[in-house]
Amino acid sequence: MGKKTTHKFKAEVSQLLDILVHSLYTNKEIFLRELISNASDALEKVRFLTTAQGGQDDTPLEIRIEADKDAKTVTVTDTGVGMTRDELMKNIGTIAHSGTAELTKMATEGKESLDTLIGRFGVGFYSVYMVADEVEVTTRSIEPGAKPMVWTSDGKTDYKLQELEEDGVARGTRIVVRLKDDLAGQFANAAHLKSIIKKHSNFINFPIHVDGERVNTVTALWREPKFQITSEQYAEFYKFLTYDAEDPLDTLHTSVDAPVQFNALMFIPKAGDDPFGMNRENRGLDLYVRRVLIEKQNKDLLPEYLGFIKGVVDTEDLPLNISRETLQDNLLLRKISSTLVKQALDNLEKIARDDADRYAEFWRAHGTLFKAGYMDFLNKDKFARLVRFNSSASENAEGLTSFANYLSRAREGQKEIYYAYGPSREALGLSPHLEVFRKKGIEVLYLFEPIDEFVMDALRDFDGHALVAAEHADMATLDGFENLERDQEAAPLSDDQKTTLDRLLARIKEALGESVTEVRVSRRLSGSPVCLANPDGNVTSSMDKIMRVISK
Ligand code: ADP
Ligand code: MG
Repeated sequence: MGKKTTHKFKAEVSQLLDILVHSLYTNKEIFLRELISNASDALEKVRFLTTAQGGQDDTPLEIRIEADKDAKTVTVTDTGVGMTRDELMKNIGTIAHSGTAELTKMATEGKESLDTLIGRFGVGFYSVYMVADEVEVTTRSIEPGAKPMVWTSDGKTDYKLQELEEDGVARGTRIVVRLKDDLAGQFANAAHLKSIIKKHSNFINFPIHVDGERVNTVTALWREPKFQITSEQYAEFYKFLTYDAEDPLDTLHTSVDAPVQFNALMFIPKAGDDPFGMNRENRGLDLYVRRVLIEKQNKDLLPEYLGFIKGVVDTEDLPLNISRETLQDNLLLRKISSTLVKQALDNLEKIARDDADRYAEFWRAHGTLFKAGYMDFLNKDKFARLVRFNSSASENAEGLTSFANYLSRAREGQKEIYYAYGPSREALGLSPHLEVFRKKGIEVLYLFEPIDEFVMDALRDFDGHALVAAEHADMATLDGFENLERDQEAAPLSDDQKTTLDRLLARIKEALGESVTEVRVSRRLSGSPVCLANPDGNVTSSMDKIMRVISK
């Protein structure tokens, strides 16, 4: 036996452990989900290595779990890649994952459940200290000549490492969880463990045995024929994949043979992540090649604006030993990607067509992120059919309209689609720029988010109708529509009035000086005395504000 050495946890790890140990969080059973998920990752790596090298190994790829009531332990054993001494120190001890500090902060703020945070931030291993007094990890790496190691810790400030004699230790990892006294009855119980596994780990790609008995149904669900899968199974798989507690808003399961073969199972969550927050990296589809996991959350299969979609893609057509670098610039992957994008957009169109309420739900959760799709020029037409805005014709600020809806209500002979940006529906309802539109009953799309104007700029037109900022609308064009509000037309100005008005304009110009280029009489206004207009005909006043902020 090698010498036993003691090592301190890195500060962030200690902090996290402290939170976990003292957490009042009741859903402690997720520790098992995390240990199993690590075992599964380790097994995926073996499958990847051996398949890629074409080599076969006799050791079955599996996870074994034992409960011992008397010893008050739960033991999780896998035949995965194992860890070397260095890896042990690096992965569970010294170096905390980049997200650890962030997680600690979010856990303290208590905005999101610890369960979700642990899953998302990849600090799963430490969750075992919610239930354990002590944990012993015995592991032997798949690396040739690697010595088996034992890691032990009570999860307080340090851990111990010791090298074992070579003999008799199989490749993989065994984790003995010594349960806290008050939790032993609950968790050192095979029946209970089985139910936890059914609930959280049913879709793990490797057999899980509890006391010798097989528990999970091993299926790559995405490769099963659609008609055999129930919506409950889809929902279960979705929750397994995302740690979401809710069912998905929508499920899209497809199988494609040409130009590339692949199966995909994609989900739209009910709730949106904050797309610009720190969860930005929490996107991407898991990429499998012939059921072997190649990359979790691949960022190239779907563009960022479709980042709300979760799921998996599995293809027969890529070689297993493909490296991440080659993946990034892979023609096949690009073909898969363009098909996936098309399918995702077609599916959204289908939802919009069949179920407007569900589409509105999608839009409220993911619309802001989706709008970044204005940069996807290849799919411009589809995108244009899918965007939604509030409008002067909506009943309230929740209302959503498409360009097509707008046109169906347009005034006869109306060639343009008008829009205006403002901080709120109320503000736009009072905007002097829109007075003439109100009078003539011409609908105006209301834009509340800065990105909306970029969308309008990029799209330029819809179905042959130019998208025009209301404040730049040509008066001559608007004059073509008679007023619907039958108020008195202003009588022509008398010479006296003209002189007074000219003097007034001159005084205003004098008072405002350099801050304006021109002060002129406008025919757009009736109820409001004055409005600001941008001299540069291409930029709306709100866009001008954005530009100024950006260029600072
Ligand atoms: P994550 O799984 O998200 O990386 P964890 O805290 O769950 O975070 O695990 C940390 C790391 O410890 C893993 O990335 C892996 O390298 C290593 N590890 C944990 N359990 C095992 C295991 N059973 N076999 C091999 N490596 C493991
Ligand atoms: Mg993990």
